[in-house]
Amino acid sequence: MHAPSSPAWSGSGDAATRVRSRRLLQLIAASMVGFGISVASDIHAADWTNLDVHVPTQAVLGVALWACVRGRLRLASALLLATVTAAISLLVWQNAGLRDPAMLAYPGILVFASTMAGRRLFYLTLAVVLGFVTLVAVANVQGWHVNPVPTHSFANLLDVWVLLAIDAFVIWLLAGDLQSALAGLRAENARVRQSQAHVEYLATHDALTGLPNRALAQDRFVQAAAQADREHAGLAVIFLDLDDFKHVNDSLGHPQGDALLRDASRRLVDTLRQSDTVCRQGGDEFLILLADVRDADGVAATALKLVAALAQPFAIDGHEITTTASLGIAMYPGDGRDFDELLKKADMAMYDAKAAGRNTLRFFADDMNAGLQEHVRLVAGLRTALAQGELTLHYQPQLRLADGRIVGAEALLRWRHPVLGLVPPSTFIRAAEQSGLVVQIGAWVLREACSQMKRWHDAGLADLVVSVNVSPVQFQRGSIERDVVNALAAAGLPAHALELELTESLLIHDSSKLTEVLLRLRAQGVGLAIDDFGTGYSNLGYLKRFEVGRLKIDQSFVRRLPADKHDEAIVRAIVQIAQSLQLTTIAEGVESAAVLAQLVEMGCTEGQGLLWSAALPAQDFEAYVRRHRAVGWVPRLA
Ligand code: C2E
Ligand code: MG
Ligand code: MG
Repeated sequence: MHAPSSPAWSGSGDAATRVRSRRLLQLIAASMVGFGISVASDIHAADWTNLDVHVPTQAVLGVALWACVRGRLRLASALLLATVTAAISLLVWQNAGLRDPAMLAYPGILVFASTMAGRRLFYLTLAVVLGFVTLVAVANVQGWHVNPVPTHSFANLLDVWVLLAIDAFVIWLLAGDLQSALAGLRAENARVRQSQAHVEYLATHDALTGLPNRALAQDRFVQAAAQADREHAGLAVIFLDLDDFKHVNDSLGHPQGDALLRDASRRLVDTLRQSDTVCRQGGDEFLILLADVRDADGVAATALKLVAALAQPFAIDGHEITTTASLGIAMYPGDGRDFDELLKKADMAMYDAKAAGRNTLRFFADDMNAGLQEHVRLVAGLRTALAQGELTLHYQPQLRLADGRIVGAEALLRWRHPVLGLVPPSTFIRAAEQSGLVVQIGAWVLREACSQMKRWHDAGLADLVVSVNVSPVQFQRGSIERDVVNALAAAGLPAHALELELTESLLIHDSSKLTEVLLRLRAQGVGLAIDDFGTGYSNLGYLKRFEVGRLKIDQSFVRRLPADKHDEAIVRAIVQIAQSLQLTTIAEGVESAAVLAQLVEMGCTEGQGLLWSAALPAQDFEAYVRRHRAVGWVPRLA
C-alpha cells in the first residue's frame, strides 16, 4: 500500500506508527459499534434480513482488530476498508437502494481511504462506490432489482444518527490528526528557517567576536563602493593587526587571548560610525571599511582614533594587558577599485607600519609593492634554506688581550645560497625578524652552535665558550628559554659554555617576563653579553639588573680608535663603566695592531676582529685554535 501523505503518520518514527495504530483501533471499534447498534435495532424490530451481512462483517472486523493489535497495520486497514465498503454496499443493495441511510457511510469511508489507506486504495474505493451506486440506479431503473421506497421510522432515524455520528467521528479524528500534522510542519518549518538563519550567520560572521567575516565585508564593500561612486566620495580599506598578540596568547593562555580579541573588536566597533564595517579577517587581523570618506586626513584621524582606543589597557582576568596595533590603509578608488586588490595593498601598508616599529599606521604607496615582493622572495628563500640545510655557522675567535689566549668563538650565521654563494646575515636577518622566521632560525643556530662547541670540548678544547646572537624577536615571539635549554640538553654542553649576545634595544624595553627569563637563564649559568654596546641607549641600569657579564664594544667606535678622539673617549668610558661593574669588555672589529695597543692601554679585556681572524667554517676554526695554541700567541703591540 502506498504510504499516506499526511505527515502525522508518514514519519518513520515509532510515534507515527503508534498514532496510526491507535487511529485504526478506534475506527475498527467505531465500525463494530456502529454495525452492532444497527444489528441491535434490527433484532429489536424482529428484522433478520441483514444478519447475513452483519455477522460476517463483525467477524472480519474482529480479524482486522486482531491484525491491528499484532501491529499488522496495512492488513488491518485494508480489511477495515474492504469490509465496511462491502457491508455498506450490501446493505444498500438489500434495503432501500440509493435512498437507504447506509449511503451516509460512504463519505466516512472515503475520508478514511484518503487519509489512512493511501492514494491508490482511495481511487479504487471511489471507483467501487461510484460503480456500485450506478449499478443500483441502473438496476432500479431497468427493473432488474427494485429496492423498496423506505418509509420514515425511528429505526431509520437511529441508523442515520449512528452513521452520521461515525462519519463525524472519522472526520473529527482524522482532521484533528491533519491539524496537528500541519502544526508540526509549521513548527518544523520555523526550526528549519531558524537554523538556516543561524547557518547564514555563521557563514558571514566570525564566531569568536561576532563581527562580520571577510565574505560579508566584501559584500559591504561592493555596496559602499557603489554608494561612494554615486556620491563622488571615497572609501578606505584598513588592515589592522595587533602587535605581539602571540605574546599574550603564549604568556596568559588562549582563553585570555580570545577575551582580548573580543574586547579589542568591541573597542574598534565603538570607535567607528554605524556606517563603517569592522570585520575579523582571522587571527589578530581586522579589516575595516570606512564609508563616505572625503580625504586622507579624515581617514588618518579615524585610524589614529583606533590606535588610541586600542592603546588603553585591557583588563582581562585580573591582568592589565596593553596592546598596540599596526594599520595599513588603501583608498578606493585611488589605490584600486577591486576589493582583493585594495586588501592586498592595505596589507602591504600594514606590513610597512610593522617594519617601521609597529603601533603606527601607513597609507599604501606604490613603491611598497616592489620592496614587499623582494621581501616576500627573501623570506620564502630563507624558509627553504632552513628546511634544506643551506644555513651554516662560521666561528670568529675571541681572544683575551692579556695573554692572547682564545677564550671563545662568536657563532655567525651564513646562508650558503645555491646561486649567490655565501650570503652574510646583514642581507637577511632583518627580513627574518620581520617575518618571525628568526624564531626558527635562532633555535637552529642555538642547537648547531651548542653541538659544535660540545664536539670541540670533547676534542680537548674544553675551555671555549660559544657566543650566540639572539634577536629581540626571539624573546617577543618565540620561546627562547626553552630553545636554550633544549639546545644545551641535546648537545650535552654545560650552560656556562654558552653566552647569549643580546641587543640593547631588547633590554631597554624592559618587561617583567623578560627579567624573569634572563634571570632564570643566568641562574643556570648561561652568560649574557650586550652586543654593539654604545650604539643603543644610555640607560645603564639594566646592566646590573640582568647580571650581564660582558660588554661588546661596537666596532664603529673601535675601528676609528687611533684617529678619532670622540671614539677614544667613548671606548675609554665604556671600559671604565665595565670595570666599575666588574664586567669584561670585548672590542669588536679589531683590525690593526695600533687599535689593539690602544685597547690594551685602556684596559679592555678581550677582542675579536680581522687582526686575528674573520669568522671561519667550523673545521678551519678548530685548526686555527690548535695552531694558535701550539705557537703561543704574544700580543702584537704596535
Ligand atoms: P655582530 O653580532 O655585531 O657580529 C659582528 C660582525 O662583525 C660580524 O658580521 C663579523 O663577521 C663582523 N666582523 C668581525 N670582525 C670584524 C672586523 O675586524 N672588521 C669588520 N669590519 N667586521 C668584523 P656578520 O657575520 O656579517 O654579522 C652581522 C650581524 O648579523 C651580527 O653582528 C649580528 O648582529 C647578526 N647575526 C649574525 N649571526 C646571527 C645569528 O645567528 N642570529 C642573529 N639574530 N643575528 C645574527
Ligand atoms: Mg654579535
Ligand atoms: Mg656586534
